[in-house]
Amino acid sequence: AANGEALLELRDLKRYFGGVKAVDGVSMTVRAGQVHGLIGPNGSGKSTAVNVISGLYAPTAGEILLHGRALPQGSLFKVARVGVSRTFQNLQLFGELTALDNVMVALKGVYRSPLPLVLLGFARGEEKRAQAESLALLELVDLKDQARTRAKDLTYGAQRFLEIARALARKPDLLILDEPAAGLAHPDVNNLVEIIKRIRQRGITIVLIEHHMDVVSELCDAVTVLDGGQVIAEGTPDEVKRDPKVIEAYLGV
Ligand code: ADP
Ligand code: MG
Repeated sequence: AANGEALLELRDLKRYFGGVKAVDGVSMTVRAGQVHGLIGPNGSGKSTAVNVISGLYAPTAGEILLHGRALPQGSLFKVARVGVSRTFQNLQLFGELTALDNVMVALKGVYRSPLPLVLLGFARGEEKRAQAESLALLELVDLKDQARTRAKDLTYGAQRFLEIARALARKPDLLILDEPAAGLAHPDVNNLVEIIKRIRQRGITIVLIEHHMDVVSELCDAVTVLDGGQVIAEGTPDEVKRDPKVIEAYLGV
């Protein structure tokens, strides 16, 4: 999709867990090239919405379109294959592997190697290319100097950035970040903002679930606000910050 055109569309999306209406009729449009914020109080359905988009959960009802076509539903793998990649609120790294190998493993999901190969299963020529590509992704997230460090020995912030590099290895058109700043110290939050700007510069569209309103204001072109599984406001960061419904449900105190 060209910049500004609809890349991802949710139409009356619902996901219930028994009697809990976690996502209860959400419609929203994420435009190509933008950083789209998804905010709202705890339990408002943000993670469930992205869990459904990314194929972790099947929707109870509703439609999800990517590039105007129905997105595969209920399969992380199939959704990743059509260009939607995500990070999780909890880390999903291989602790014993180096930062570089963590990215290489993610890349391997992209290449179709004809031969089952040694270390990670790359074909001969591909391994060098994959390594160069992985190092470039580590550089993008400020981790090039720690490429040979085992994931479990990285700081928490570095682990979160490594998870972003792994998500990018799948070459997404759309990257979904679920609270990437959670638990980060202040300098790392600033680094995260810079990293997200670099990712956007590469033309990758981003859905960002984020609590820090200053981060949302700095990064997001558009924001959707959820409460009780429903959209209560949408607009630019400034518009939603001034919305009385948002102030009452989320920003107030
Ligand atoms: P948020 O990410 O905005 O904090 P969630 O999407 O995690 O909100 O949760 C929305 C609601 O759905 C909450 O009431 C939560 O308890 C419920 N919920 C989320 N996932 C599950 C699940 N797997 N099983 C049952 N209830 C769930
Ligand atoms: Mg959540």
